[in-house]
Amino acid sequence: MHMLNHPDLGKAMTLSRSGLRDNHRRSLARFLLWVTGLALMVFATLQLFNGYPWVSAVEFVFGGLAFVGVARINHTPHFERWVYGYLFTLFSFFIVIMLLPDASMAAFVWVLMMPVLAYLLLGRREGMMLSVPFMILGCVVYVVFLSGIEGLSSAEFVIDFLNMVLCSSLMQVFMYMYEARREEAEQRLIEVAQTDALTGLANRGSFQSTLTRTIAESERSNTAFALVMMDIDHFKAINDTHGHEAGDYVLQEIGQCLQERLRTTDFVGRLGGEEFGLILRDAQPEAAYELIEELRQRIAARKVRLGGADIAVTASFGLAQWPEDGRQANTLFSVADQHLYRGKRAGRNQVTSSFNTQPTQEGAAAGGEG
Ligand code: GH3
Ligand code: MG
Ligand code: MG
Repeated sequence: MHMLNHPDLGKAMTLSRSGLRDNHRRSLARFLLWVTGLALMVFATLQLFNGYPWVSAVEFVFGGLAFVGVARINHTPHFERWVYGYLFTLFSFFIVIMLLPDASMAAFVWVLMMPVLAYLLLGRREGMMLSVPFMILGCVVYVVFLSGIEGLSSAEFVIDFLNMVLCSSLMQVFMYMYEARREEAEQRLIEVAQTDALTGLANRGSFQSTLTRTIAESERSNTAFALVMMDIDHFKAINDTHGHEAGDYVLQEIGQCLQERLRTTDFVGRLGGEEFGLILRDAQPEAAYELIEELRQRIAARKVRLGGADIAVTASFGLAQWPEDGRQANTLFSVADQHLYRGKRAGRNQVTSSFNTQPTQEGAAAGGEG
């Protein structure tokens, strides 16, 4: 549960959140560009026959641009720019048709479409920032429009004006609330997908993506890090003796212990069963070894209270060092795994790495206990 606040999960979340958001926004933008492009082509043709070649030419150009957008929008790295360009032009166009001398009152319905498009395409904050000024402008144009109607009584004026202001304000509030809820639900979904339900640590999937990201960062900055695999010793015996629930409790306790000991730059996840993974950033082999050795001792010294009895739980650790043991995730995983099982065979409760082939004294001693 605490892991949800880890900066790395946060990073992964923002990445995938924009990924999710992008997908549905891109398909919506694509649909809108299609509709806009088609509509403009139809209007351009009509205007040509209508005897307005200039209007027709402008509409052809913008229609063409909309189709370029259709082709580009799914892949462009400048999605936001496309959306801003599209919405700004479209909203300006709405304002212009409202300003035309022979504008009908129906043209003003487009004011209400502004927050819908802006919030869906830009999200809560930017959607509000773009749509509010345009809506206010639309309302001002509406006031000018109403003042121009002959024979409109003051009461009628106020009624028409209030209809517009109330409806647009409500539209803003509804869209804002909708987006806020949606973003919250999306965030929660991503957290759940990245978290191990029992321990609250990162799950295997998010551990692997953090490892991949750590490798990429290390390649750039050339700073060493260590991948650690940890497996609880004789965990099956704990389950068999005290029950599965007790086993779950031990997993939670160990997870918490790992988290308490690590620096904020380090990362911990549950890889599955009673196996945990750690990433120690900016750690040279000796420092990584010492840190994990201290962690091993701390776990062994910490008694877990199970149904009136205090039991000792030990774990074995396998270290793989970037870049000495390998530069890629699979290699590092398999080196850490080999070391871990070497430690298991050598008697458990020990830390094993390429830089320390001698099992620790305690480990060798504990090995006899089976
Ligand atoms: P070793 O020292 O060689 O690691 O022995 P071990 O008993 O820890 O290893 P083994 O892989 O034989 O057993 C792991 C056990 O962990 C088997 C499985 O039932 C149990 N286990 C896996 N996931 C969970 C879980 O989520 N909760 C509980 N309570 N037990 C689990
Ligand atoms: Mg085990
Ligand atoms: Mg195991």
